[in-house]
Amino acid sequence: MRLPTFKGGIHPPDGKSLTAEKTVEVLSPKGDLVYPLSQHLGAPCAPLVKRGDRVLLGQKIADTDAFVSAPILASVSGTVKEIGFRMTIPGSFETCIVVENDGQYEHAPTLLEDLGRKPERGDYLKLIRAAGIVGMGGACFPTHVKLSPPEGRVIRWIIVNGAECEPFLNCDNRLMLERPEPIIEGLELCLELFPDAEGIIAIEENKPRSIERLRGELSEHDGSRIRVMPHAVKYPQGAEKMLIWSVTGQEIPPGALPADVGCIILNVRTLYHIWLALTQGIPVMDRIVSVTGDVVSDPKNLSVPLGTPVRELVEAAGGFKEDPVKVLAGGPMMGISMRSLDVPVVKGTSGILALSSRSAALPVESNCLRCGRCVAACPMHLVPSDLDRAVRRRDYAGFERAGGMNCIECGCCTYDCPASRFLTQTCRNGKAAVMAERRKQAQKGAQKK
Ligand code: SF4
Ligand code: SF4
Repeated sequence: MRLPTFKGGIHPPDGKSLTAEKTVEVLSPKGDLVYPLSQHLGAPCAPLVKRGDRVLLGQKIADTDAFVSAPILASVSGTVKEIGFRMTIPGSFETCIVVENDGQYEHAPTLLEDLGRKPERGDYLKLIRAAGIVGMGGACFPTHVKLSPPEGRVIRWIIVNGAECEPFLNCDNRLMLERPEPIIEGLELCLELFPDAEGIIAIEENKPRSIERLRGELSEHDGSRIRVMPHAVKYPQGAEKMLIWSVTGQEIPPGALPADVGCIILNVRTLYHIWLALTQGIPVMDRIVSVTGDVVSDPKNLSVPLGTPVRELVEAAGGFKEDPVKVLAGGPMMGISMRSLDVPVVKGTSGILALSSRSAALPVESNCLRCGRCVAACPMHLVPSDLDRAVRRRDYAGFERAGGMNCIECGCCTYDCPASRFLTQTCRNGKAAVMAERRKQAQKGAQKK
């Protein structure tokens, strides 16, 4: 039987065997914890603490009144040492709260202790926001916003992203293997909010034990509206639009939301945090990070308090066997190139990937051969070679007309291009230029009023 999938996509070497069998180990941080004020899409938070304050584990230390945002909570107890600019994963300097860990791990009251009773359905969204839950697959969109679809939309599917199609990463896979019950129970709690919906857990078939574990757990839940749906192995199966297509056969029109076609997509780790928040009142304070790559001495999956410096994760994995040519936060397809290891783990950090020149050779671009491979690979049905040409000519209107703003920056075109054209990078540049122009026009319009 053919498994569900989407058109286009690629099959890069998956590199998952380095950490697939590694049980998650808990890392206790040694140094200061650093919390950037923006770890999500939406409005950045403002600090609620000042230098010298004592903070407790799970205490809210930054928040905003904006709906599209999520608070930041301390992952240790200790003293606020500084609020100032620190380098973050993309290499930019952002305002961060720095906490000196006292090693006591003294708890603030839980969200349920604050509530003072067993949560009811009407409390769920408030608790999910209070817990600082965002899309833990990397997109970091605030989850309470996702679970509040626009008026009139009927949600028919909550699709759980357990695909983990990004090569080398195993944080979701290990969570499904080691903690299947919170994923199922978290999904059941979400389904209480959408009585017309069914829950579909989408997992690529290269994770047969995870499929088995979740199905085994489901067999304990009589009358559940949840099923596990194995998917074909193909990158980027875990992308929102690809998952919706392969589960429901529907395409999201440009500019539309998943809710417009009756879908909400949640990552498995996001469900785990929903379960923690609604059943135990525990907010987002840690996450699993795969520390992997061919130069890492002892690749591992680590459960890490948010704010821990990446350098401590690398040390816990035995350090580097040789100098890496590239260190990425995330996987090789969509990961962010890092300039320093002295940056903190944030909510969206799924992996640290360190590669040698053997596995991350820097390609030399040559002229386009008009072979069409990038077109066949593009899961968004774009013509990457045309987009590339338009951006290099600075024809951003042409880039937009050709659908460039629909590019999901998946990297498939670059991966498959025999001329090593930097197609994804030019699309990224094109999108940034169009957005900058839109902002400029909006400012001009506002000034005229
Ligand atoms: S990076 Fe953009 S243009 Fe290239 S394959 Fe992905 S969606 Fe298509
Ligand atoms: S894959 Fe590369 S060489 Fe082939 S058409 Fe696309 S840009 Fe040109």
